Amino acid sequence: MTSTLDRPATAPVPRLVDQFERGLDAPICLTWELTYACNLACVHCLSSSGKRDPRELSTEQCKAVIGELQRMQVFYVNIGGGEPTVRSDFWELVDYATAHQVGVKFSTNGLRITPEVAARLAASDYVDVQISLDGATAEVNDAVRGAGSFDMAVRALQNLSDAGFRDAKISVVVTRHNVSQLDEFRELADRFGATLRITRLRPSGRGADVWDDLHPLPEQQRALYDWLVAHGDGVLTGDSFFHLSAFGDGSSGSALPGLNLCGAGRVVCLIDPVGDVYACPFAIHENFLAGNVLSDGGFRTVWQHSDLFRELREPQSAGACASCNHYDSCRGGCMAAKFFTGLPLDGPDPECVQGHGESLLAGDRSKPSANKDHSRGVPLQLMTRPPSRDCDENPLAGFAPA
Ligand code: SF4
Ligand code: SF4
Repeated sequence: MTSTLDRPATAPVPRLVDQFERGLDAPICLTWELTYACNLACVHCLSSSGKRDPRELSTEQCKAVIGELQRMQVFYVNIGGGEPTVRSDFWELVDYATAHQVGVKFSTNGLRITPEVAARLAASDYVDVQISLDGATAEVNDAVRGAGSFDMAVRALQNLSDAGFRDAKISVVVTRHNVSQLDEFRELADRFGATLRITRLRPSGRGADVWDDLHPLPEQQRALYDWLVAHGDGVLTGDSFFHLSAFGDGSSGSALPGLNLCGAGRVVCLIDPVGDVYACPFAIHENFLAGNVLSDGGFRTVWQHSDLFRELREPQSAGACASCNHYDSCRGGCMAAKFFTGLPLDGPDPECVQGHGESLLAGDRSKPSANKDHSRGVPLQLMTRPPSRDCDENPLAGFAPA
């Protein structure tokens, strides 16, 4: 990797996006899944979570990783899982990270955000909370995340708001069933003084099994793009909809804000619960495994020297997208979405707004199987209607709130 620090003082200053394409000395978007354990069984879970893996990093090993992140000047880390708060050392690790200048943004289904925890979070300047919600109503949300999960998330938002926590995030994976609720999500966020964050459904983990039924239809993709152009100010997207920029006409008002770049292994990566480092949180597969923080010399060594990340930082071929007029804004879309739908990595995205994905999906393809699955028994089945009784699925089974 070309180090931005090693450039001669007289060399021309490269554009920021070019620097990002060649990779940085440290990731700017590092996701760290602390555990595969989860009280829920969301049908689209990107990490197929459910049961804890006995090899998960210990408290001391996690602290060693945090020390490395501090030395690499990684200013914040996105912590997820599984449900990270079910780790008994979760708050200890959060405190350790913030005491070592590594800010924490953690994603939770709300399980442990009690009034007491909310008060504690409100007192910290270095912790941000993201509550996952995949429907603006219980009916839509619980069909994907399990009965009772809407109420649990809203209760957490209420506790945070009551405690004076400012600007929590409501994190929504956009699906065929909630894309018409974007205004309602925004109202919900406003009600709790929160910010709406919407991201793309990828066919990763258990998401591969439900992607065909849940990913927004072509006309919904268009509606989503129009909504983002008209109402997207202040809505966070993690730059995850850059394939939709191809709807634009190239004028400045038609582009979605962001880098329009697959950051996998360049500015983005994932550390999983056992310390494996992947190019992207949505690419948990041996093809995208760069190394392990325990067995391969630590996170810095993996990030800066792994063969996979070196390869991803080389200029990528536009392949079948080279002749497309929209390539500059779309860049062929998402590597993980292509991989897990069995499409060539140098071809169009499965949700290509020019319709090329649909024809490819209709042809012969072989979808890779996931090489990690921590689902607990039979995961939640995608429900097309809410359960008849609240107790049909119990998201809290086995997890007494702390
Ligand atoms: S693989 Fe997809 S989700 Fe991952 S960084 Fe690239 S574009 Fe983003
Ligand atoms: S053909 Fe490729 S570059 Fe063009 S819109 Fe489709 S995915 Fe994007």
